[in-house]
Amino acid sequence: MSGEAAREHDGRFGTFGGRYVPETLVAALEELETAWRDARADPGFETELDACLRDFVGRPTAFTRAPRLSTQAGGAMIWLKREDLAHTGAHKINNTVGQVLLAQRMGKTRIIAETGAGQHGVATATACARYGLACEVYMGAEDARRQSLNVFRMKLLGARVHEVDSGSRTLKDATNEAMRDWMGSVGDTHYILGSVVGPHPFPTIVRELQSVIGVECRAQCLDVLGGLPDAVIACVGGGSNAAGIFAPFVADQGVRLVGVEAGGRGNEPGQHAAPLTFGSPGILHGSLSYVLQDQEGQTSDVHSCSAGLDYPGVGPEHAFWKDSGRVEYAVANDAEALEAFQTLSRLEGIIPALETAHAISTAMTIAGSMPAERHVVVNCSGRGDKDVQEAMRLLGV
Ligand SMILES: *Cc1c(COP(=O)(O)O)cnc(C)c1O
Repeated sequence: MSGEAAREHDGRFGTFGGRYVPETLVAALEELETAWRDARADPGFETELDACLRDFVGRPTAFTRAPRLSTQAGGAMIWLKREDLAHTGAHKINNTVGQVLLAQRMGKTRIIAETGAGQHGVATATACARYGLACEVYMGAEDARRQSLNVFRMKLLGARVHEVDSGSRTLKDATNEAMRDWMGSVGDTHYILGSVVGPHPFPTIVRELQSVIGVECRAQCLDVLGGLPDAVIACVGGGSNAAGIFAPFVADQGVRLVGVEAGGRGNEPGQHAAPLTFGSPGILHGSLSYVLQDQEGQTSDVHSCSAGLDYPGVGPEHAFWKDSGRVEYAVANDAEALEAFQTLSRLEGIIPALETAHAISTAMTIAGSMPAERHVVVNCSGRGDKDVQEAMRLLGV
């Protein structure tokens, strides 16, 4: 979303964020910002969203004690916020139903999205089916080949899937095509971004929609633990499940917040997907944040065993939280995630997504360094059914 006519606008987290987009999209983003502000001020919108989250998504999600995992870690009690139990098996649906309701309010009849592994595409197609909006999803042809099951899911849900044959035929190329579509279709079309990334107001909208996780979790802590937890831990791809659980705890200075990036195979460029740990400030997809890039500002290749963390950028609010010191960012590598994937399955009867397994790994280390009367909460961002085949391959089964 950069481009020669890039212009800078408000919507900053410190110096990060902003709106670096071609002129043709500025009006659409301003319309979206106004519509979002109006929706937030309208009790009718909140009532409709709450009803959908309860009756369709299945909220509130459970807050589960993990005693056997905690014993294995050897310290604090570990608790899981169960986004894996949300409809479609991950937190992504919280955002897509909210944005579909917003699009309906704006009088848009058509939704577009881009997807890498297909998880955001499926969550978008699901919300569109529920509310009867036309849905078109852009996906790199190479990704579509690797994730053919998700392509079929989207089609079952009534979406049209455009396989993009240009460039590396992956997410980057799908994003370019979706942007091109939106520039010509903003009159009747809303573009649903899947994480706290992109130009203002997307990082704010997605964080607010995902904050339902943290609002529920904070109340569950007060109720079940009788107070706030000592630490809250979440994996960070674009950063939406982390921002959603962190935001309601940010003002609670006694609560340690830890985001976990994908360490992949090692610290060399191209081997990981950890922009907050190894990247530098730069503009990617319409906003300023930490980016994995080379000396010339060329975006680096990334690697992670989990497709949902395999992204060279991160939401601008995380960049702000990192620099301000409010949130710590750690790294878990492929091997550690794969180990945690098996450990949580065996000890708690919960097969986590490989993305989530990164957070589980770091949570075990942190819990292990704390006394037994402390409490550590992990955002269990999604279930691992989608990853069992990849895990079989990685484990050489
Ligand atoms: C997509 C995804 C992620 C990463 O996205 P964020 O925006 O960083 O939350 C993490 N976990 C699961 C299960 C996902 O599907």
